Amino acid sequence: MDNDFKETMNSSDQILLDAKKNAPVGLGLISGGLDSLIACLVLKLQNIEVIGLNFKSPFCICDKAYKNAECGLNLFYDKLGIKTHFLQKEDDYLQIIKNPKFGHGKNLNPCIDCRIYILKKAKLFASKIKADFIFTGEVIDQRPKSQNLKALRIIEEESDLKGKLLRPLSALLLKPTLLEKEGLIDRSKLLGIKGRSRKRQLELARKHGLLNDYNACGGCLLTEKEFASRMRDYLKYSSNPTMEGVKLLKHGRHFRYNGSKIVIGRNELENNFLLSLKGPDEVLMEASDVKGPITLIQGVIDEDVINFAARLTLRYSDAINSKGKVIYGKNSNDLNEEVTVEKVKQELLSSYLL
Ligand code: SF4
Repeated sequence: MDNDFKETMNSSDQILLDAKKNAPVGLGLISGGLDSLIACLVLKLQNIEVIGLNFKSPFCICDKAYKNAECGLNLFYDKLGIKTHFLQKEDDYLQIIKNPKFGHGKNLNPCIDCRIYILKKAKLFASKIKADFIFTGEVIDQRPKSQNLKALRIIEEESDLKGKLLRPLSALLLKPTLLEKEGLIDRSKLLGIKGRSRKRQLELARKHGLLNDYNACGGCLLTEKEFASRMRDYLKYSSNPTMEGVKLLKHGRHFRYNGSKIVIGRNELENNFLLSLKGPDEVLMEASDVKGPITLIQGVIDEDVINFAARLTLRYSDAINSKGKVIYGKNSNDLNEEVTVEKVKQELLSSYLL
């Protein structure tokens, strides 16, 4: 058995449910969006104790928001008396992106596999905090591929939560879970929402004074074309991809030139980020005598690569002339080599831009 939760839920559901009849504790997957908030509300309204679980990753567009919103989310859920825990998606998640059993969405988003991944982790977490069940804010047919009836069934089965995963917002359109059958959850107080409209959710948020707290944050970089292209490239060229490595993909202009990766900062913040990320075998570069970006070069670095990276660096600098000097080196405090190059022509950029 992998954990107490599995043990209890699999082998002695009846005993557990009898013992917990008065005080079930639900662990809810919360994204910071409206649906998960309302799923929590629906359960709180029938006096279920609710604990929140939020998964963080570099793919979350709300990274910045969540920085405040570790507090923000807590504040957000405080009104409902819900404590929120945070877990990271780890490096193993990258294998799921690379090779999802149930395929990708429009870009590189492996939504069905992603849900299964977080539910498996949530299940382990539920056992640690002794939660009795897991619920989500999923709504049937809200997303064509990952939230249709078939997908919801697959997610439930593959995460080994068959009959035990509650979706309070669409529950009336789904088979009753074990929790409802046993009377731990009052099915009549659950909802039967279907589709993309958030009308009912907004009504409830308004009615219970949560509308101002609703943070329309949410969003996943894997669904974005440009980021997906960088990510594909990263997975292709990296023998040991890590979440730490993914962070670089969010900053700067990225170019793949032969076997090397060239990243060019777009502002001071990104320049500093590139400086902080530089590994021992990587090269830094900047235009000499004029203001311009920091360039980081990774991978196979030969004369040809240095030359091309220098041309790019000059292209994005303040240099007025088409020809100029660029300095580079492995030691950020002492870029002691130099090369004079011509700026890359605009029409060549798109061939290498990720
Ligand atoms: S959009 Fe991103 S975070 Fe959301 S389910 Fe899909 S892969 Fe996971």
